[in-house]
Amino acid sequence: MTSILERRQKLLSPSYRLFYDDPLHLLSGRGAWLTDVHGHRFLDAYNNVVPAGHCHPRIVAAIVAQTERLNTHTRYLHDIILDYADALLATFSFPAQATFTCSGSEANDLAIRIARHITGGEGIIVTENAYHGVTSTTAEISPSLGKSVNLGAHVRTVPPPVAGTDFAAGVRSAIVDLHRHGIRPAMLVVDTIFSSDGVFSEPAGFLIDAVEAIRGAGGLFLADEVQSGFGRTGTHMWGFERHGVEPDMISLGKPMGNGYPVAGLVCRPDVIKKFGSNIRYFNTFGGNPVAMAAAMATLCVIQDENLMQNAHSVGTYLRTQLARYKHIKDVRGAGLFIGAELTNGQLASRVVNEMRARGVLINASGPNENILKIRPPLILSNEQADMLNDVVGAALEVALANE
Ligand code: PMP
Repeated sequence: MTSILERRQKLLSPSYRLFYDDPLHLLSGRGAWLTDVHGHRFLDAYNNVVPAGHCHPRIVAAIVAQTERLNTHTRYLHDIILDYADALLATFSFPAQATFTCSGSEANDLAIRIARHITGGEGIIVTENAYHGVTSTTAEISPSLGKSVNLGAHVRTVPPPVAGTDFAAGVRSAIVDLHRHGIRPAMLVVDTIFSSDGVFSEPAGFLIDAVEAIRGAGGLFLADEVQSGFGRTGTHMWGFERHGVEPDMISLGKPMGNGYPVAGLVCRPDVIKKFGSNIRYFNTFGGNPVAMAAAMATLCVIQDENLMQNAHSVGTYLRTQLARYKHIKDVRGAGLFIGAELTNGQLASRVVNEMRARGVLINASGPNENILKIRPPLILSNEQADMLNDVVGAALEVALANE
């Protein structure tokens, strides 16, 4: 009989990459847990797509109910898109309008179009190991894809905000360099938790000068909240809020529908006005009633079950526990977005594999892949955090013994 791996190889694009040498074959999920075909349970501490936990009954019910009633597109009137936009926009402290898409990449792609339309500029500034999407324009601003994808000639990279460095100074130099090449800056894009750069969260406020610099050069500021949004960072609904800045545009995705594909771009009304009056935007599936029902139920669960507060308390507890391991050089992050820095990528890879063998799923990130990236569902309990922490300890011990 052909194995599932052979079938995949035969049927799917070779662009797909699996996690682990011995990949997981999953059957079901519930809460923070995943179960594989052998009946083994895994604590999912990596998936930033299910803030409410896998298959949350209230969200499943909302998707089913709307699927049974109506699913169509945004060129007819329906209430649910407005009910959701109302609830979503109420989480921002400034006036804004929403455009819905199917993926974070589409949201960032749209932001690029808007920024270029509004500013007349082309130049885009991103961090050195950023990831912003799969479309050709967002891949061009995603240096983490490596050398196989060329950065656009209009793209400049800046060092991530490693502790003590002046992030805004990098942005100012990039602006000077763009001008030297005759390119007008269109925008600065920042994943506000710097997920693929290696998770940089402190000190809160370091974005203020950078945002001022890009605005001074006539460009816009896009906060990519695909990773950091919807309460994950614990103290605020949105990652940029920790830094006391007000973006021109905010892209949303991953956790927005607790697994259902729904994403979007939120813009200040003056920013979207000029683009929207000149250019028609229709995204066949973006903002469809079922997507909106999924997003609405997800937001309600995040708010009603106090998941942001839970991310703060359990995240703070977990980070304190992890900081006790002397082989972890640094523990960074906010809420339940945690980066734990090891000395090298090989060690991190061994830890990730040893943890899987002990029933906990995480991964590594950063340019050297030496940062353990830990992003459990926001429902994580203190007991589950203890288990995760114990497994990190056991995995570290075995991985270090093999160094
Ligand atoms: N921005 C960031 C910061 C991301 O992490 C991702 C996905 N990993 C994206 C954008 C793209 O989102 P999607 O995969 O939904 O297109």
